[in-house]
Amino acid sequence: MKVNDIFVSPHFRLNEFQCRCCGCVKLHPELLVKLESLRESWGSPLLLTSGFRCSQHNRKVDGAEASLHLLGQAADIVVLNGNQPEFIEAAEKEGFDQVIPYEKRNFVHLGIFGGDERVSLPVNQHKWEMADTVNAGAGV
Ligand SMILES: [Zn+2]
Ligand SMILES: [Zn+2]
Repeated sequence: MKVNDIFVSPHFRLNEFQCRCCGCVKLHPELLVKLESLRESWGSPLLLTSGFRCSQHNRKVDGAEASLHLLGQAADIVVLNGNQPEFIEAAEKEGFDQVIPYEKRNFVHLGIFGGDERVSLPVNQHKWEMADTVNAGAGV
């Protein structure tokens, strides 16, 4: 067992969100709830290439100075199956505040401002617990 190697929702482990350079992590509940809901409706794996970034790492990857990645409120997603326009539509339906496609590099940046009071965690505790049992070890 490694630090952060733990499911925080039915489909996501905490270490998927951790900084790529130092392993530190911040994760806003609203980001996780919306990502999990999107993963559920999309129905196939989403690969996170960037979640939380420490300021050093954010500078290294030329991230925006006030990037939501610094707050644990953004994730960059590679769509493994399906096409980007459909994925973007699905992400917008989930209510992400930022949905920014980087077509050349084949990922979509999703961010939240953290003010959506409709979001609570967990969305459906029973469902999350069930899914966790079913998907344990899948890592997707
Ligand atoms: Zn770092
Ligand atoms: Zn991003």
